[in-house]
Amino acid sequence: MATSPPPAVPSRVRHLATELADAKPMRRGSLSERTVKCSKPGCACAQDPKARHGPYYSFTHAVGGKTHSRFLTTEQAALVRQQIDAGHQFRSRVDALWEASEQWADSQLTDISASSGEAKKGGSRRVSKTKLSRKSRPS
Ligand SMILES: [Zn+2]
Repeated sequence: MATSPPPAVPSRVRHLATELADAKPMRRGSLSERTVKCSKPGCACAQDPKARHGPYYSFTHAVGGKTHSRFLTTEQAALVRQQIDAGHQFRSRVDALWEASEQWADSQLTDISASSGEAKKGGSRRVSKTKLSRKSRPS
């Protein structure tokens, strides 16, 4: 194989990759907050929704197809909310990096076809539907 110099990393790809490398604690899952009624006789919570106890926080996430929940204190819940946000941010950056990388990958293809003179620059993108309708039914 001929060794070609590594392609220059587009600034957008480099930028996004750098952001992704900025590691921080993060989570997938969701936080829920609820108030509850107790069973103490005469407690106001039985009648008044505003007198319910709480709020109580719980974090729910899926592990291997199973849903796990854990209760959190108010302080923990505030932190977990940030960690979930960090996870969302990470995910959207991954998506953005994918897109930028795929554009980069496309431009490599364009470079090759341009140098071999087979395709016009900025040519229309054609989606080819390859029909594989070969019926190989044993008779
Ligand atoms: Zn109560």
